[in-house]
Amino acid sequence: MSVVMQTNWRSLAQSLQPRNQAFIGGKFVDALSGRTFPTYNPATGQLITQIAACDAADVDKAVQVARRAFDSGIWRDLKPTERKAILLRWSQLIREHLEELALLETLDTGKPIKESVSVDVPSCASAIQWYAECIDKLYDEVAPNGPSSLVLVTREPIGVVAAVVPWNYPLIISSWKIGPALAAGNSLILKPAEQSTLSALKLAELAQQAGIPDGVFNVVPGLGPEAGQAIGLHPDIDAVLFTGSTEVGRKFLEYSARSNLKRVGLELGGKSPHIVTKDADLEKAAMYVAYAIWYNMGQTCNAGSRLIVHRSIKDQLFELMRPWARRLYPGDPLEPTTELGALISAEHCDRVKYYIELGQQEGARVAFGGRQILQETGGWFLEPTVLENVHNDMRVAREEIFGPVLVAIEYNELEEAVAIANDSEYGLAAAVWCRDITQAHLVARQLRAGTVWINAFDHTSINAPFGGYKQSGHGRDKSLHAFDKVTELKTTWVELH
Ligand code: NDP
Repeated sequence: MSVVMQTNWRSLAQSLQPRNQAFIGGKFVDALSGRTFPTYNPATGQLITQIAACDAADVDKAVQVARRAFDSGIWRDLKPTERKAILLRWSQLIREHLEELALLETLDTGKPIKESVSVDVPSCASAIQWYAECIDKLYDEVAPNGPSSLVLVTREPIGVVAAVVPWNYPLIISSWKIGPALAAGNSLILKPAEQSTLSALKLAELAQQAGIPDGVFNVVPGLGPEAGQAIGLHPDIDAVLFTGSTEVGRKFLEYSARSNLKRVGLELGGKSPHIVTKDADLEKAAMYVAYAIWYNMGQTCNAGSRLIVHRSIKDQLFELMRPWARRLYPGDPLEPTTELGALISAEHCDRVKYYIELGQQEGARVAFGGRQILQETGGWFLEPTVLENVHNDMRVAREEIFGPVLVAIEYNELEEAVAIANDSEYGLAAAVWCRDITQAHLVARQLRAGTVWINAFDHTSINAPFGGYKQSGHGRDKSLHAFDKVTELKTTWVELH
């Protein structure tokens, strides 16, 4: 029997004592102000614990220890094989603590335990493992300048890196930033979202057990306008890797300009289109379109949230999607068979409901779902929803809803579909459903998005870059390209004659 089926999650949840202090310089500590903030279980609305509310003073303390650790060379000057061994041990410890980490993630975010066990925790461990394995396989360069000079182009760690992350995939998104930053030899300060701190603090405990030196990995929980802003403005942080909303991403660019011009990596929002052509495999497309918007309750930056479907096949596609809407129905996240969990907060649930209302005022019709459900649990659940009769100029087609709400737009000619797909301020991902592979490639080339899937959605691997065009951000997470934001290139020119 699998881990998810054989574990008694409710009794494990009762005995769990999540850490709730900051982790700075190898110690779990209260915020210097003594203040805390609450974190709630989205599936019950109940308080889980109070967490240290770090502010500028705590951030400054974390930066100081991180800088000292960096300057001392205790981490960056390790032999590559030694740094690799420690990170591999950490990824192994993450795997050994699968149940606890998965439970923390599920209690904090409301996502199904099945997903935390099979996707979130293993993906986090694998990302750290992948970057650890890169450490002794990356070669530097010699620039070709003839026999009289030796021109070395070497990568060096940038110094103190901060990662500011959202609540939708706390472990996964953190690992995409921790992996390259630590593998390159930097010190790192992680600021989790206020709704989802618990798994980050467990990661810190395991980092220490793995042998990551004190000060190299720190976690400063806190609120965005306090801890997050202090990170953005700190004069001694060299790079910030941010994932979150476009609005806050813009602030990080301002913080950088107002402080030390720190490097900023931005992974922001999306309104990713699926183009479904007449010639598509509709059964396959129906399943993927359903998962692409409803997985994680639509709280996914690259969720396939705009369906651009040929007018002649829309009804057929909807019929094929209905069984998926029934199957992907929300339930108790601690139940091992549950496919969809809760939305992150009451405020967020209200925001998504507002968009369902707004769409109808704008002229859309609810084709599936649309209702809040399971209110008796105290949690925040919504039905998988599709709005039809949508035009791309409506707000529901332009703004990121970040909930289980698909908007369906019909088209007649393929050029029109491509134009609609590109008519967005976002450009994170897109998909084309088309059996004619030449046609599909031609469409893919025209789509302005960081990832384009052909006859698939959300297929992903740590070795493929992830990030956006336009206001979906810049810089890339994952793959070797992630090293670009956390390293400096140094040219050393040696004259030989
Ligand atoms: P936010 O942008 O609100 O928050 C992201 C992080 O920034 C959190 O840690 C938050 O802290 C912090 N923050 C908030 N306000 C400030 C501020 N004024 N100064 C500094 N830091 C701040 O996004 P959400 O957490 O609400 O996540 C949802 C958004 O993230 C969606 O728009 C989604 O598309 C995007 N996203 C993008 C992804 C991508 O890879 N492109 C992946 C996942 C999400 P706190 O929460 O504690 O206030």
